[in-house]
Amino acid sequence: MIHFVGAGSGAADLITVRGAKLLEEADVIIYAGSLVNPALLEYAHEGCEIHNSAHMTLEEVIEVMKAAEAAGKMTVRLHTGDPSLYGAHREQMDLLDEEGIAYDVVPGVSSFCGAAAALKAEYTLPNVSQSVIITRMEGRTPVPDGEKLRSMASHGCTMVLFLSTSLLEQAQEELLAGAYEPDTPAAIVYKATWPDEKVFPCTVGTLAETAREAGVKNTALITIGGFLGGAYDRSRLYDPAFTHMFRKGTDE
Ligand code: SAH
Repeated sequence: MIHFVGAGSGAADLITVRGAKLLEEADVIIYAGSLVNPALLEYAHEGCEIHNSAHMTLEEVIEVMKAAEAAGKMTVRLHTGDPSLYGAHREQMDLLDEEGIAYDVVPGVSSFCGAAAALKAEYTLPNVSQSVIITRMEGRTPVPDGEKLRSMASHGCTMVLFLSTSLLEQAQEELLAGAYEPDTPAAIVYKATWPDEKVFPCTVGTLAETAREAGVKNTALITIGGFLGGAYDRSRLYDPAFTHMFRKGTDE
């Protein structure tokens, strides 16, 4: 059996209890060495075989899984954050299907959640934004035509950019060609939840300059939108006047 496990966004104690237990039981661990906190490997038992996928191809990863399976061993494939975002685990699962090898998925704390915690911010504020766009600037990996940053930016809602810190000159132009203004608040969150986490508050107009001055090139998220500002409405859920399934309000 193969378990795809979300490692969480950085801090080793942000892995789920289920994920940690599987790491303790694993005979083989394949971890994404570029972003997974190596402290998580301390869960591994003596004799556990450990591979860093940063140096491996998809085919090599599958070979390790196949060999483990043939030997009756349990494998944990440890992905950074949550595997469902830019995790490339679909292509692994499809090849495992072809081999008839069983697997399951354990979710993790994605870095976009870690970034919100670092910012002590709420992405979905009433009367500010009720949607979060998670996307990236087009780089060596293309982005489908309908999802170019400029068109995504036309909504003006909360946005979190993955994998884009080295492309901020272009990203900034695209964002400004959408609905954001040069003074729309933004923040660069470097290594969210890691011990060396850093937050760089800025605006859409100063994104590229801020990253350049801070020397931040990777392992960062770009968060954008009015949620970083001061104005919002109170929630209806906790409004004394509002009635809902679990509470009678003064409007009844
Ligand atoms: N599956 C991961 C994302 C993998 S893509 C997740 O759910 O978080 C890798 C990109 O994620 C990095 O280039 C960076 O943009 C972002 N990232 C991952 N960990 C991060 C962290 N702790 N802080 C800020 N950005 C991070």
